[in-house]
This record gives sequence, structure tokens and C-alpha cells, in this order.
Amino acid sequence: MENLTSSEIAGFGVGALLLSATIAAPRVDAFISASQRSSLGMCKRCGDLRMIACSECKGVGSVRKSGPFSFRLLEDIIESLGDGSTPKELIPCMRCRSKGRFPCSSCTKLT
Ligand SMILES: [Zn+2]
Ligand SMILES: [Zn+2]
Repeated sequence: MENLTSSEIAGFGVGALLLSATIAAPRVDAFISASQRSSLGMCKRCGDLRMIACSECKGVGSVRKSGPFSFRLLEDIIESLGDGSTPKELIPCMRCRSKGRFPCSSCTKLT
């Protein structure tokens, strides 16, 4: 990594962004396991956990102050590359009210 220029590093960031946008989608995983779960008689959405991780904050309960998801993802990558210039401003996730998860709507309907 010694001979990398900053533009090459930026290229890595974009590449990593595209890559993670493709594989990070938990929906793919959820889609695959949904058929397994239904065959096991488990809840398709949560696998009988009765909880679903918040997609906004990924279960953390707080989100970056900055805008769209794609930018947050890019910031994650930049931070992981060791560039300390990105300020870490975390605010409580409004979507889950910083709980990080929701009760599973499929399960709660049944009970
Ligand atoms: Zn459920
Ligand atoms: Zn959340």
C-alpha cells in the first residue's frame, strides 16, 4: 500500500462502496433464509426472534448526522481507510428511536 496515490485510494473507496452495496444487502441473506425459515415453521421475517434490526442504523441505535445512506457508507469506508478527517457525529436513530430494533410486525400481528 506504500505507492498508492490519494486518487488510487479514492478508487479503492469507490470500488469498496460498489462492492459492499452489492453484497452488504442483508436482504439477499434474508431472502435466502426466508425459505429455510418457512420450511422450519419459523417466522419469515425474524426467525422467531420477534425482533428485526433497524435497517436505518443497523441495530446500533444511532446514525451519522450526514445525509443519504450512500454517503454514510462512503464515510464508513473512508474512516476504515484511516482518514481521520470525517467527523463522527452520531445522532439517535429516529426510525427506531435509538432502540436499534423493531418488534417483528409479522409476529406481533399473531399474538
Ligand atoms: Zn417475526
Ligand atoms: Zn435505527
